[in-house]
Amino acid sequence: MRTSDLVLLATSNPGKAHEYQLLAAEHSLALQPIPGLDTLPAFEESAPTFAENAAGKALHYSQYVSRPVLAEDSGLVVLALGGAPGPRSARYAGPALSDADRISKLLAEMKGNRDRRARFVCVLALAERGELRALLSDAVEGELLEAPRGTGGFGYDPIFFYPPLGKTFAELSPEEKNQHSHRGRAFRKLLAYLAGDA
Ligand code: IMP
Repeated sequence: MRTSDLVLLATSNPGKAHEYQLLAAEHSLALQPIPGLDTLPAFEESAPTFAENAAGKALHYSQYVSRPVLAEDSGLVVLALGGAPGPRSARYAGPALSDADRISKLLAEMKGNRDRRARFVCVLALAERGELRALLSDAVEGELLEAPRGTGGFGYDPIFFYPPLGKTFAELSPEEKNQHSHRGRAFRKLLAYLAGDA
């Protein structure tokens, strides 16, 4: 496939969708949400690794559309918690809870812990008509704060402190976050893959 081909994005997370829209526009990639995603049979992201979830999701949705499908699995890996919440980041503390609830649970588990190292991971999978075309990943290293800071972004951004900029991801503009984030880095690898695959 070529970078000019339309790619369909499999996500119902508005925070992620917004970041992908900006990334695609910046790099002139034709990217649109899968039309009627909510009406298609859902994919259960229950595998223990980001890669299995991303590949499974891209393959699953690629059965229903003729265009290539881009899916991601991402999450926060906290070293002191043995990698949790990891691939369970979206469901940490229960499926019906809010980002604020998940942050509270994580901060409670980390209370008094001096090892604050954390990493955001993003795995991207591209599939076309039931075949996996590419699997790419990247990560960004940071530290967990003891209280949220900032109002931008989504998910765990307000407690993810990024030392090179001295700010949390929630204190960055969407463009700045994309420049440094796990998602932006993995996306640029995808672009390099597409450019080489023309
Ligand atoms: P999933 O990929 O749909 O399983 O969701 C990943 C979850 O990881 C999100 O719902 C967030 O809780 C968290 N996450 C992934 N990327 C980010 C990010 O860029 N900022 C904050 N939280 C993130």
